[in-house]
Amino acid sequence: MSCISMKMKSLPKGAQLVIDTSYFLTLRDFPNFPDCKLFSTPEVLEEIKDRSNQLRIDVLITTGSIRIESGRKEVEKKVVGHFRGNSNFLRLSRADLSVLVLAKDLHAQSPEVPVYVAAEDFEIQNIAVLLGLRLLTAKGATIRETRLYVRHCVACNNVVEPDEVDCSNCGSTRFRQKVSRRTNVRARG
Ligand SMILES: [Zn+2]
Repeated sequence: MSCISMKMKSLPKGAQLVIDTSYFLTLRDFPNFPDCKLFSTPEVLEEIKDRSNQLRIDVLITTGSIRIESGRKEVEKKVVGHFRGNSNFLRLSRADLSVLVLAKDLHAQSPEVPVYVAAEDFEIQNIAVLLGLRLLTAKGATIRETRLYVRHCVACNNVVEPDEVDCSNCGSTRFRQKVSRRTNVRARG
């Protein structure tokens, strides 16, 4: 699997960029991508709690520099369904998931347009790459490999579904995460 990850001042012309809370908060000055469309989600806005950053993003919204949208429910269902059985989603926040769903939706609507997920957090990067999306980071730190996790019961080693609160085999509530699949990521740019 290949992936383009970038720490750049410019993106390919016409690219679409969906920003996560971590990316926004890492940057003091939001980069200017004149030829790109910037997006974020209502869930990301909710995560931005401090007044100065709220004002900062308000300016971007009112000047039309960034659009706040949500991905379609059917896309969310697909994304969640794709990772059914993997416990990766336990590590994602609602905002993380909303960013991934919007990015996947934009990608589905115009497959020829590159869609970037701008995020510093490795777990959202992980799922973004597994979804065929590209990465943009403020600091340039991106994942070297993707990982899928499953949960195992500590007592009997049974595989436990991500939404189960106790083991269906022995009733234990102690689980651990194990990597079920790794794939190297080739970074370029
Ligand atoms: Zn068990």
